[in-house]
Amino acid sequence: MTIYNFSAGPAVLPKKVLETAQSELLNYRGSGMSVMELSHRSSLFDEIICSAESLLRELMEIPDNYKVLFLQGGASLQFSMVPLNLAQGKKALYVDTGAWSKKAISVAKAISTLDVEVIASSEDKSYNYIPELPQTVDQAAAYVHITTNNTIEGTAYSTIPNFGKVPVVADMSSNILANDYQVTDFGLIYAGAQKNIGPAGLTVVIIREDLLNQTAIFAPMLDYALQVKSNSMYNTPPTYSIYMAKLVFEWLKDQGGIPSIFEKNKEKAKILYDAIEKSELFKSPVRSDSRSLTNIPFVTGNVELDKAFNQAALAEGFQNLKGHRSVGGMRASLYNAFPLEGVRAFVTFMEKFESEQGGK
Ligand SMILES: *Cc1c(COP(=O)(O)O)cnc(C)c1O
Repeated sequence: MTIYNFSAGPAVLPKKVLETAQSELLNYRGSGMSVMELSHRSSLFDEIICSAESLLRELMEIPDNYKVLFLQGGASLQFSMVPLNLAQGKKALYVDTGAWSKKAISVAKAISTLDVEVIASSEDKSYNYIPELPQTVDQAAAYVHITTNNTIEGTAYSTIPNFGKVPVVADMSSNILANDYQVTDFGLIYAGAQKNIGPAGLTVVIIREDLLNQTAIFAPMLDYALQVKSNSMYNTPPTYSIYMAKLVFEWLKDQGGIPSIFEKNKEKAKILYDAIEKSELFKSPVRSDSRSLTNIPFVTGNVELDKAFNQAALAEGFQNLKGHRSVGGMRASLYNAFPLEGVRAFVTFMEKFESEQGGK
């Protein structure tokens, strides 16, 4: 049976990437060692991390005045690093669009010296839309933090806001490399790798040079400027995850890069949204102008029926469809590596399930 993995993260990886990793697992480039066993200071690993960076720069068209960091601690550590580095003595502004942004806000608020303000929220409607943002914000603020794609609620910004001199900081964990974003619309982008980049353990940070902190941070590991100075090797970086990310970037380039993968993602999402619209059984809880391409929640409105659907889906090889515990129902995550034929097979299954309900 073919398994289609709809997991929100850690998520499906391209089969081709896994095959390459398998073929190189025991003996990387004739070294007689696995990448896992290489020194992070070796020339073989240096080539891996350098090509990972240059491939990412090429894919996202990252300008020279932005630095790329390969860190650890997940997106969650960035909830602390961003305010600690960027908001020294300045106000930090946040948009509250779901569970992850809420967490980012509470972590920032826990830093006692910090002045945090939430400038817009969609909590009033269980985060089922992207709220309208103020036209202007305090120009002395350090940044406006947004979550480009809300993994749990299934919403995404259709356009990236502009606040003049105040940079936009984005948690892009669940749709980095899936949309054709302009890096120059952001001051800082961060993403945990396990959704659209590679295995867990790696966090990518892209930061505009002028935002690098001038004063050292009390904890060196949390200091962007020091991490930049050390080329992400202040300590041992997550070497194998960086190697896997490099293979994923190569695969993305082979797919035609971001413009082409973005078109494919739109096609995949459209097939599923169309099936939900057509259905009389399934509904999308998300307002139509705010829908995500990568994370698509849907419900029947009946908890027992949701459960029956999830069970029947599992039996057919459609894995990890259960919605987040805070939302319920189902959630299909259609990241870059999720195949088009998997979406087609799945909507056929949805139709079959619905027609069988009619007979009961
Ligand atoms: C998954 C996720 C996180 C948490 O990521 P970790 O790497 O587990 O810390 C944060 N923000 C968003 C938008 C996510 O999807």
